[in-house]
Amino acid sequence: MNQYMEKTEQALVHTYNRFPVVLERGEDVYLYDTEGKKYLDFAAGIAVCGLGYGNEELNQALKAQIDKLTHTSNLFYNTTCGKAAEALKGISEMDRVFFTNSGTEAIEGALKAARKYAYKKGTGRFEFIAMEHSFHGRSMGAVSVTGNEHYRTPFEPVIPGVKFAEFNNLDSVKALVSDKTCGVILEPLQGEGGIHMADPEFMKGIRRLCDEEGILMICDEIQCGMGRTGSMFAWQSYGTKPDIMAMAKAIGSGVPVGAFAMTEETARYSLEPGDHGTTYGGNPFACAAVAKTIEIFERENLVSHVKEVGAYLEEQLNALAEASGEILERRGTGLIQGIKIKRSVGEVINEALKEGLILISAGENVIRLVPPLIITEEHVDEMLHILRKIL
Ligand SMILES: *Cc1c(COP(=O)(O)O)cnc(C)c1O
Repeated sequence: MNQYMEKTEQALVHTYNRFPVVLERGEDVYLYDTEGKKYLDFAAGIAVCGLGYGNEELNQALKAQIDKLTHTSNLFYNTTCGKAAEALKGISEMDRVFFTNSGTEAIEGALKAARKYAYKKGTGRFEFIAMEHSFHGRSMGAVSVTGNEHYRTPFEPVIPGVKFAEFNNLDSVKALVSDKTCGVILEPLQGEGGIHMADPEFMKGIRRLCDEEGILMICDEIQCGMGRTGSMFAWQSYGTKPDIMAMAKAIGSGVPVGAFAMTEETARYSLEPGDHGTTYGGNPFACAAVAKTIEIFERENLVSHVKEVGAYLEEQLNALAEASGEILERRGTGLIQGIKIKRSVGEVINEALKEGLILISAGENVIRLVPPLIITEEHVDEMLHILRKIL
């Protein structure tokens, strides 16, 4: 253990088992540690750094904003908030945006927005239907809708009125619907839970069910959104527009920012002045990151790039799965892929790290591949060369 690791371990609450690597800088899709060792990054800071590292245009925009103004509070307008919100509205097809500081807070806000909607309409609805194996964050509200007992149990009682359905089983959702159901919350592609994609019939069925029963559909696009699946947001490939959606991770390219957004119809009956707030959320610095990130995504046509390079990654992983008896299943789409392996995931990840490749896990024995969205086929080949050797 070197000085950096020691200081960290001695000062922080012990909530993480970290890899014995101290990262110092990044360039393109590579990270470098304090020893100067180079790593090909297939984790992107957990699906955050879509533009990779050291994007000159983004960095210049952030530096310029720092020199002007970083924070104002939401009691005032600022020069970047409207621009970022307008850009986010455009790509999300939503009508109203609320900026938060994280994904968890975006979920909290989305849940509150749904509860307020029911309250104002006077329906008496307050229950949420969430999915098994889902992940929505760690605050009391977000953990209440997270379908993983490991994350929830130590903090019980969590907020009441949450029921869990089986992902991709519409009947199991229908069975939980009552006249108290306020919202159905789901990730169109479960990330943390092990890279599980929603079936089109399931997504369409949820949308139909919500319409019929007067329930709000809430999509958590925090991990699978922002181009990662080969659509800007995952729901767009299903044609199932949610009433409320949560975003974060890649929308600020590493600057901590999230957002929840809703349709005008939802907003009409939802949060009003005084209902919800945040000191930092939507500050000029965070919004400069969002506005510039979206500008680059659109100009560079990054979503089509993800579609192309994601198809290549998928094809190569399928070939590897066929050639090696070590892979049980490949799941996912675009640049959010998972391979379920026979061997211990921890072992494989540690061996990859030694070989200069950063991988992370998801769910049970799944290696999760969520590289920066700017990777090329050459980077995929470089990753596979190492993975093939290990497996
Ligand atoms: C990461 C994640 C969250 C939580 O976001 P934070 O920024 O860590 O608070 C919520 N939902 C999903 C799907 C995520 O992947």
